[in-house]
Amino acid sequence: MSDSAKITLATAWLDGCSGCHMSFLDLDQRLIELAAKVDIVYSPIVDTKELPVDVDVGILEGAVSTEENLQIARMFRERCKFLISLGDCAVSGNVPSMRNTFDLDDVFDHAFVETVQAQPGRPTESLPTLLRTVVPIHHVVNVDLFVQGCPPSADTIWYVLTELIAGRTPDPTQITRFGA
Ligand code: SF4
Repeated sequence: MSDSAKITLATAWLDGCSGCHMSFLDLDQRLIELAAKVDIVYSPIVDTKELPVDVDVGILEGAVSTEENLQIARMFRERCKFLISLGDCAVSGNVPSMRNTFDLDDVFDHAFVETVQAQPGRPTESLPTLLRTVVPIHHVVNVDLFVQGCPPSADTIWYVLTELIAGRTPDPTQITRFGA
């Protein structure tokens, strides 16, 4: 922890639309209050390159659909004391898992050939290594808290973070009362 008065927070998005992170930003003026109590040490919304080894709270958005997603999920589990699966993609697979019923070759063809007008064709490099099936985060690592919603509302995220800041474990039965 870089400031002993604060909890450290790390976030990442895996296979998601970034909407759950946008919902986090929807905390609006509450972000100022949060900044006094939370140190964001790794996240797409801050300029950090390395996940520290001992983070208080980790938040993962999105499902696990590539080898890279898998490595990030494992790294978060290893380095974060409390891991949150944020949003329906992370919790259940949601939209990204819709490709699970299709052959991977058909998925690539649909993305790079059938629906492309300018220079259709599958790239020969820089393609992510897709897993055969998209899975929720808890299928690959243990998760401490599930926060449903597509995306979860800012009020929900606020409830979860303020409980953790207060040293309490958020009550899963309370999470749904804020809506998505
Ligand atoms: Fe986007 Fe919804 Fe998935 Fe969040 S749960 S990453 S908002 S599709």
